Amino acid sequence: MPDAILVLNAGSSSLKFTAFALGEDLSPIVSGLAEELSGTARFRAKNAAGEVVGEHAWSDDPPGHDGALAFLFAWLREHVPGMTVRAVGHRVVHGGATYAAPVRIDADLIAALEALVPLAPLHQPHNLLPIRLLAEKRPDLPQVACFDTAFHRTAPDLAQAFALPAEITARGVRRYGFHGLSYEYIARTLPQLDPRAAAGRTIVLHLGNGASACALLGGRSIASTMGFTAVDGLMMGTRTGALDPGVVLYLMDELGMDARAIEDVLYRRSGLLGVSGLSSDMRVLLASEDPAARFAVELFCYRIVREVGSLVAALEGLDALVFTAGIGENAAPIRAKVCAPLAWLGVALDEAANEGRGLRRISTEASRVAVWVVPTDEERMIARHVRELLSL
Ligand code: AMP
Repeated sequence: MPDAILVLNAGSSSLKFTAFALGEDLSPIVSGLAEELSGTARFRAKNAAGEVVGEHAWSDDPPGHDGALAFLFAWLREHVPGMTVRAVGHRVVHGGATYAAPVRIDADLIAALEALVPLAPLHQPHNLLPIRLLAEKRPDLPQVACFDTAFHRTAPDLAQAFALPAEITARGVRRYGFHGLSYEYIARTLPQLDPRAAAGRTIVLHLGNGASACALLGGRSIASTMGFTAVDGLMMGTRTGALDPGVVLYLMDELGMDARAIEDVLYRRSGLLGVSGLSSDMRVLLASEDPAARFAVELFCYRIVREVGSLVAALEGLDALVFTAGIGENAAPIRAKVCAPLAWLGVALDEAANEGRGLRRISTEASRVAVWVVPTDEERMIARHVRELLSL
């Protein structure tokens, strides 16, 4: 069993992991997650072929992140014998204005990342938990933080600014952008697929539970739809996307809502779920005859088309469009609904290719804009960063 890089992605109640074999192609050895860590906690692991190779349910006290991490390391020792974890890479949502690249973790960095918690209070504290735990229990094990914001630090100042008073901007209130590890993975994949797209003007649509779009110029981010937080931009599973800020004032003044109640509306009760009144899951909505479900799907696609228009303007043209993440990779009807109104830009979808699976071009030969489906792999992107940064 080879040496490995372990990639961790800690959410509010879950801990996802993938162990990659150290080597040129970083092949995955085992991956999985521990979820509902404060409730009826469960663990499940799969091998590279997708077969379940480990399951566990906690019957007594919930393990929390602490217990889940200890369980994971013990499980790996027992079930993947001979594998040595040489380093750990973490997905960290916020690197602020400072971190434009992955960084090796030490006590100073942990303190700096804790100072960024106010910028991402719903995610950053959970990302930092396993980092702190491992720094304490396994100080010998190198750790690397990879940020969802870092890839967007190449965007021009104009694209990162709000028209706010300077003293508020100075507090760090600016557009950061997210899903950066996904965009970086796509940007690094494009040169082998489509040199024109890689060197030119490409819009990547990351359409998952969270959704955003990014304008790539020569493989670098020049604009994206998420802003100060991951609630801006496109409509999402349960998040609003871009909203007139006046609505927030209305919710406060007229409905008497406080910050937490508004947060609940913006992050957890809106988007596909809120508009359909049915589900945040695109599969459920696409299978439904309910007019509200259909409207939610139409609004999701309309908002994408509107934002693509804005990003095309920032790019001053368009050479390629890339669909990725759960909806982008799997939902042919959504891709068709997004591409049809973009015909004026030179987008022509190949309907048979659109119905296929996996990495492929889905535009016709004659299409002026190349349209691709590229499965994203944020975990592998993190593993690559760890290998590069630590020269493993
Ligand atoms: P992600 O956050 O990238 O895991 O994406 C989750 C979203 O992808 C959910 O809305 C799922 O409903 C959606 N999704 C996954 N598979 C499909 C599919 N075959 N058709 C439509 N939507 C899908």
